[in-house]
Amino acid sequence: MPGPPLAQAGPLVERLRRPDARITVLTGAGVSAASGVPTFRGADGLWKNFRPETLATAEAFGRDPKLVWEWYAWRRLRIASCEPNDAHRVLADWSRRFPRFQLITQNVDGLHERAFAKVTDRSAAAEATARRAPDASGVIRLHGSIWEVLCWRGCAASPPRWRDETVPFKEIPPRCLHCGDLIRPGVVWFGEPLDPEIVGAATEAADCDVFITAGTSAVVYPAAGFIDIARRKGAYTVEINPEATPATGTVDLALRRGAEVVFAELNRGL
Ligand code: NAD
Ligand code: ZN
Repeated sequence: MPGPPLAQAGPLVERLRRPDARITVLTGAGVSAASGVPTFRGADGLWKNFRPETLATAEAFGRDPKLVWEWYAWRRLRIASCEPNDAHRVLADWSRRFPRFQLITQNVDGLHERAFAKVTDRSAAAEATARRAPDASGVIRLHGSIWEVLCWRGCAASPPRWRDETVPFKEIPPRCLHCGDLIRPGVVWFGEPLDPEIVGAATEAADCDVFITAGTSAVVYPAAGFIDIARRKGAYTVEINPEATPATGTVDLALRRGAEVVFAELNRGL
C-alpha cells in the first residue's frame, strides 16, 4: 500500500517552498473524477457503449451530428451539476500563492476556470496567461471547452467561437444563431490540430522547476510530451494518479493517490 503522500513528498514540498519556484501543473480527466465528471477511459466514461475515440472526431460529426451532440449534451448535463473539488481549489489558490505558477489542462469541463474565477488577487504569471485568453481565467486550455461552440460551416456572420451554457438544448443537434446550420462543440477532436499559440504557451510553461502531471493517462500527445520537455529542461517531475501510466517510471516522484487528496495534503504542508 502506498503511504501518505507527504511521507514521500519531502523533496517536492521542499521545492514548493522555494520562493520564486517556477511550478507548472498539467491536469487531465482524473482531476475532475472526484467532482463526479466521468473520465474518458474509465468504465463510467462510456456512453451507450461508444468509445470516446469513435464520437470525438469530425468524421463522426459529419456522419451523425445528432449522435455526437447527444453524447456532448449528456456530458454537459452531468458536468452542470458538478462542483470543483479540492484539486481545483488548491490549484486556483496556487495561482495566487506562487508568482510563477502555470496550469495547463486537457479538461474541457470548465471546473478549473470556475475555481480560478474565484481568485481575485492572482499572481503576475497567472494574469499574463489570463490576458492571452480571458475566457479561460488564466488556465492554458489545450483542448478547448465543452461550454463553447462554433458554427460547423464557419459562416462569416458568426464569431470564431462563443460561450453557450444551454442545458438541455431545445433541439439536438443545436443550430447556429447566425446561419441556421449546425454548431459543433468548441473542443479539439481526435485528428484535429491544437491551437499553435496555446501549444506555444504550454511549451513555455513546461520550462519550469517543478512539473506535476495529475489525473491524466499520459497517452494523448502532445499533452503527454510536456513532461519530457520539463525533464529535459531540468524540472523535478511528479505524477499524481492512483493508477500507473506510461509516465510513472519516468518521473522523479509518483504519488499513487487521488489528486483531490494529494493537492489538499500538499497545500496543508506548505
Ligand atoms: P483519461 O480518462 O485518459 O485518464 C484519466 C486518468 O485519471 C487515469 O489515468 C486515471 O487513473 C486517473 N484518475 C482517476 N481518478 C483520479 C483521481 N481521483 N485523481 C487523479 N487521477 C485519477 O483522461 P485524460 O488523460 O485527460 O485523457 C486525455 C485527453 O484525451 C482528455 O483530457 C481529452 O481532452 C482527450 N479526449 C478528448 C475527447 C473529446 O471528447 N474531445 C475524448 C476522449 C479523450
Ligand atoms: Zn453559422
